[in-house]
Amino acid sequence: MKKSRTKFLVGAAAVACIALLVGVRTLYRYGGVVRQNDGRSAGESARRSAEQKGNASATATSTKKLVALTFDDGPYGTSTKQILDILKAKNVHATFFVLGMNVAKYPDEVRREIADGHLVGNHGYNHLQTYPTMSSSTFALDLLRTEEAIVSSTGAHPTWYRPPYGALSATMRQVLHDQGFRIALWNVDPEDWNYEKSSSTAIIRNVESHVRPDAIILMHDGRDTHINYPRDNTIRALPIIIDDLRARGYEFVTVDEIVK
Ligand SMILES: [Zn+2]
Repeated sequence: MKKSRTKFLVGAAAVACIALLVGVRTLYRYGGVVRQNDGRSAGESARRSAEQKGNASATATSTKKLVALTFDDGPYGTSTKQILDILKAKNVHATFFVLGMNVAKYPDEVRREIADGHLVGNHGYNHLQTYPTMSSSTFALDLLRTEEAIVSSTGAHPTWYRPPYGALSATMRQVLHDQGFRIALWNVDPEDWNYEKSSSTAIIRNVESHVRPDAIILMHDGRDTHINYPRDNTIRALPIIIDDLRARGYEFVTVDEIVK
């Protein structure tokens, strides 16, 4: 498509505004100012600051059998709603790593994630495979764009980030650190993203054979990435996984209770 001069100027102005926001935000954090509109108490901010000094990817040792269910790539209309209904019925809190582009499409679903007590994290705007090769400024803009989508829908500021495909470059790690994000990967992947390979039975078997204390289980509620499978196998598997793991003594928590 041919770009008009007007479109170019509007685009350039938008990039300049975002760049200004990144600069202001960075100064704000480096200046040690606690943001007043982020809903966090001073204690929480202090804890977060202390946490940032540790290894964000390390896993805590716990005497409890903790497990975290995580859902990526959403929100996505009906599939997110069905997953939220199951979690509510089972009284489970989970973590949702959302895409900015899908938050913009489904703001009600991400609002409900927060209202239901789930943790919401940043998973990038467009789920690109090129994040690891981006410059720090381009990657920072993607983070900010996603954060702004979440903030405008929910008022909440995400402090957790999960890289698409688990791919992290040194540049990404530095930007995430500088922007105050913590990184949450996973250690159990039932491959529910692969719809043809992973029936609901296969997802259940995969989770139940790999689960261990402090497991972080990767699942998906969202779509519209280049892997655009239905989510009904995950939705069928979820209540059975919850019941079976509870019967084995596991307690469901959000990732911030496992990653220390
Ligand atoms: Zn993803």
